[in-house]
Amino acid sequence: MLYPSDPIDDVPPTILIADDDTLLRKLLMQSLRKDGYQFVEATDGLEAIEIYKSVQPDIVLLDGSMPKMDGFTCCKQLRSLASIYVLPIIMITVLDDEASVNAAFDAGATDYIHKPINWFALGRRVKLLLDMTQLHRKLQKANDELRKIALMDALTGLFNRRSLDDMLAREWHRCIRNEEPLSLIMCDVDCFKPFNDTYGHPAGDRCLQQVGQIIRSSIRWTVDIGARYGGEEFAIVLPNTILTEAVTVAERIRTGVQELQIPHKGTLVKDEIYVTLSLGVNTSYPLASCSIDSFIQEADRKLYQAKDRGRNRVVFDETQSRIVTTPST
Ligand code: GH3
Ligand code: MG
Ligand code: MG
Repeated sequence: MLYPSDPIDDVPPTILIADDDTLLRKLLMQSLRKDGYQFVEATDGLEAIEIYKSVQPDIVLLDGSMPKMDGFTCCKQLRSLASIYVLPIIMITVLDDEASVNAAFDAGATDYIHKPINWFALGRRVKLLLDMTQLHRKLQKANDELRKIALMDALTGLFNRRSLDDMLAREWHRCIRNEEPLSLIMCDVDCFKPFNDTYGHPAGDRCLQQVGQIIRSSIRWTVDIGARYGGEEFAIVLPNTILTEAVTVAERIRTGVQELQIPHKGTLVKDEIYVTLSLGVNTSYPLASCSIDSFIQEADRKLYQAKDRGRNRVVFDETQSRIVTTPST
């Protein structure tokens, strides 16, 4: 539950007061100081813009008529720098005709206060607007968190299938544009059903987490994409990577898992007593005329060849190692 009054951080909000009248600036600060705010002052519109850029205050109180740049123009410029959800701007002016009120709101003002100022109302409006922007900040933060969670697989901390599909499509098109090679490793835990049957589902989950950690530590996490493809199957996308490099990564993952030495009594892998992985590697220079699905299917086909050939191995097509510098046709 989000409460607007929860402090998002310990720093008190900063109010920018832009007014050419020194006495009024002092009165504004005096009336608002009891609420614990910090203040920065500007004496004209141009200065207000400069101070906004360097200080990034939480709210602006803007006089309508100022030298160099009036409050309405200043408001418009500030609004082009910060949205209404991020920066409340209160116009304070002697003008109370319809055209001035409209001009202020059209320029992006959040609120309009007429002089002489009702100090009680001003204090409440400042607080309300600050609460609203703080709430918006919290919602945005929560949204970012949710977006992050929606991309990840909860068990392994790798990307999930949905984000893999999106990211693979993006990399595929980027590689078409840049004429770069793209590699995909598909891997699957060997004899995982008997592992679950022997050691139980929670132990199976822990095993998948450890495999996820090996994958994560075997790739360049900010460049390559490590994902849980489903169940005990994983996919690793390696942008701008030729076959020999991808096979090296696949071998690193395979040996990494073997070296974890997770005991496995029921494995069908010859001479093996630990959990192992089978992997298939596919490399291509993506072309607009080729489909991503067949690229994935080819890696999957190699994975199942690895299973057929006895598991705990990496299968790839040697001829793809000729794909080095020039795009295939
Ligand atoms: P192979 O070597 O041919 O891949 O055999 P396998 O036993 O690994 O393959 P199979 O497809 O028969 O079994 C996969 C098992 O993986 C069955 C399923 O219960 C288990 N599994 C899938 N997802 C999870 C999970 O999230 N946690 C656990 N503990 N087990 C899972
Ligand atoms: Mg399996
Ligand atoms: Mg499987």
